[in-house]
Amino acid sequence: MARITESQLVLPALYLLSKSENGFVSTSDLITQLTEVMHPTGQDADILAGRADTYFSQKVRNLKSHDTLQRQGYADNFDDGFKITPLGETFVLTHIDALSYLFNEDFNYEDVKNAIDDISAAGNRMLLPLEEFVSEGRLVTKNVQVRERSNKLRSIAIEHFSRNNEIHCNCCGFNFPTYYGDVYGKNCIEIHHKKPIFQYQDDSFEQQVARALENLLPVCPNCHRVIHKNHIGCDDLANFINDIQRRRAI
Ligand SMILES: [Zn+2]
Ligand SMILES: [Zn+2]
Repeated sequence: MARITESQLVLPALYLLSKSENGFVSTSDLITQLTEVMHPTGQDADILAGRADTYFSQKVRNLKSHDTLQRQGYADNFDDGFKITPLGETFVLTHIDALSYLFNEDFNYEDVKNAIDDISAAGNRMLLPLEEFVSEGRLVTKNVQVRERSNKLRSIAIEHFSRNNEIHCNCCGFNFPTYYGDVYGKNCIEIHHKKPIFQYQDDSFEQQVARALENLLPVCPNCHRVIHKNHIGCDDLANFINDIQRRRAI
């Protein structure tokens, strides 16, 4: 796995600066916050020899020592941290839907890094979380701000994954109506997003929906919690499920 690069930190850092009260975040707070939203693993999380820093936190510090944000006009080095500029704010706003989707879903670290590359490479092309696209059922215009999360994709997913009107947790097999009855057990299933996927202008609506469904997994809240707490990525889900089933079989 490739190590994090400074450019992969630019958008996440600006996103966090734009969320802060006056657009300012100190370097040490930025390290904490970036770690929280990106949760680095592997070599990036290793402590550097003879230092208190990890490879990841060192890269965050480099944003300051290399003037990375300031050189691009996105933020000013300010006291012991960074202050976002109007240009930085605009840059974040261009990708705000994709960024909020990415950082509110708690995706696996490698997927977050790849998604940041996708978003950065998109330039001025429209790039929105798929869910937003499905919620509109048509191409949305670029100046649309963060909208409420729609239930449309959720309903499509529930229909898609249901058999004889029943939907089970795809990890542990739990079935709400069986346990809680049809009244209380209704609509309790949760929908997990395996990978961050985005909408591209050249995909058709049908392609979009197909890709979206492929990316979703109906799960019970317990399994969902465990998946997110452990940052279980797309590639590790099969192992996780096998493990549960092996243990149940004992
Ligand atoms: Zn479950
Ligand atoms: Zn999830």
